[in-house]
Amino acid sequence: MKAYAMLKIGQSGWVEKQKPGVGPLDAVCRPLAVAICTSDVHTLFEGALGERENLTLGHECCAEVVEVGELVKDFKPGDRVIVPAITPDWSSVEAQAGYAMHSNGMLCGWKFSNVKNGVFAEYFHVNDADGNLAHLPDRISVVDACMLSDMVPTGFHAAELAGIEFGDTVLVIGIGPVGLMSVAAAALRGASRVIAVGTRPICQAAAKRYGATDVISYKDGPIDEQVLKMTDFRGVDRVLIAGGDCDTFAQAVRVLRPGGCIGNVNYLGGGDSIAIPRVEWGVGMGHKHIVGGLMPGGRLRMEKLASLLVWDRLDVKPLSTHVYHGWDHLEEALFLMRDKPQDLIKPVVVLED
Ligand code: NDP
Ligand code: ZN
Repeated sequence: MKAYAMLKIGQSGWVEKQKPGVGPLDAVCRPLAVAICTSDVHTLFEGALGERENLTLGHECCAEVVEVGELVKDFKPGDRVIVPAITPDWSSVEAQAGYAMHSNGMLCGWKFSNVKNGVFAEYFHVNDADGNLAHLPDRISVVDACMLSDMVPTGFHAAELAGIEFGDTVLVIGIGPVGLMSVAAAALRGASRVIAVGTRPICQAAAKRYGATDVISYKDGPIDEQVLKMTDFRGVDRVLIAGGDCDTFAQAVRVLRPGGCIGNVNYLGGGDSIAIPRVEWGVGMGHKHIVGGLMPGGRLRMEKLASLLVWDRLDVKPLSTHVYHGWDHLEEALFLMRDKPQDLIKPVVVLED
């Protein structure tokens, strides 16, 4: 079969691979549509995961089941499924402790295009099919379904991590596709004021559509200074981080009220440590919480998030700004995600006729 692989850091291409087989609990699927993630860009071009040789890229797709193991109960060949980017081992002790995304090691629930071949291939393997796949409702298009793999669950996880409550003032730093879903999640969770940070006009417009009350640019000065001014120096109850770098944390801590919480889902690619400003962190006693997390996978979560689309609580259509047809366009879509032109939010490649 054909697979699009990372050959080494900075180099990728189509390769021939063996079609995967199934264990008793597993499934083999073929993608119906795939989406490119900023994480693919970090992995391939920045070596975020270190060197990988011949690793199939991609972790966002929806698919058709082609084959299932003998112990799989709820899926059969021909079923159309949502495929989460994170596919934990649900029988691990970490899953039993409530942290399935870290099953068998920190971040090890992230398997596709990290520790095993990803979904940019004619066929791919899914461990624990009953625990990880979800049936794709008829009402959801294959393009929209790709947003359920990672963008919706990750963006929403920032809101969960920060524990947004009714009436909270929320700052969302970064409004690429992940941050836009954080804005949507903040609005759904009952935030009052939602201040969004980003510069691309298409993302700013989408942020307003998803519920941002204010949009600012990090290029117009330090975020903390802008936000403190806008809030009469009271600051915010929650900060959701989906963009920026290690310095972003210092700014987030400065604008956070005591008792508030920072929910980070952003990948921090550089530096050895994250600086927390001592005085603004209440000299260690400010009750300013900082939580960072990998999005949880799992069938139940996928079904619940999909139901937001089915019942028109969430419209993910504005995210897919560039839709291609056929594997021949995959590389173009990947390079587009690397270059992030002004009119891009997310590229999707549709593979079914
Ligand atoms: P994008 O690159 O599309 O968006 C990043 C956003 O951050 C943009 O709005 C950008 O602004 C903004 N930004 C850039 N620099 C700064 C800065 N210095 N200060 C404040 N904002 C800044 O990324 P995605 O939305 O696709 O992904 C966001 C992050 O989430 C990535 O790091 C990705 O790897 C990570 N991720 C994490 C997952 C998890 O499970 N935790 C899963 C998937 C992704 P603009 O471009 O407008 O100038
Ligand atoms: Zn992703």
